[in-house]
Amino acid sequence: MNGAELAQIILKEEGIGENHYEIKVGRSRVVYNKINSQIHLKTEVLEGTGLEHLLISAHEVSHLLNNETNFKTYHFFKIIKYMYGTALVFVGLNIVLYFFGLFSLSLTIFLNILLILITPIMVGLYKKDERDADKRAINYIQKYSNHKNDLATLMKEREANLILVLMMEY
Ligand SMILES: [Zn+2]
Repeated sequence: MNGAELAQIILKEEGIGENHYEIKVGRSRVVYNKINSQIHLKTEVLEGTGLEHLLISAHEVSHLLNNETNFKTYHFFKIIKYMYGTALVFVGLNIVLYFFGLFSLSLTIFLNILLILITPIMVGLYKKDERDADKRAINYIQKYSNHKNDLATLMKEREANLILVLMMEY
């Protein structure tokens, strides 16, 4: 079984139909869309049969499932990320305005307070999403692959079940 096949098995078992997602070659991540989400996986992950490849595949699929089953949290996360990005753009804009003598101190203070408030929420949501994806991925490997023993060894080595967060998004 390779990464692509494992992804298909998980999605099928979880009742996610093929018209709901598309598996594509790309940097490992999920591009969400309510009608047709895309799971991007590197070629070596799609074709790889090793434990690490299967873990990455299962992890990315798990992100999709996290959000399918927890749509409210996903939307909140999306809004927070959007706010964060917007605040950063305005911080940058304010630096440009500084050179034109139009710098606003009150806006800068407001944006900084906003960023200070949003950052821990965003980091918390990000960590939760990654942790939940790892937990799901580990369960799927135990359930569907023949790498159970390798997984047990790997988890023992890392002394935690957070395997992929440490590897980032590969
Ligand atoms: Zn992830």
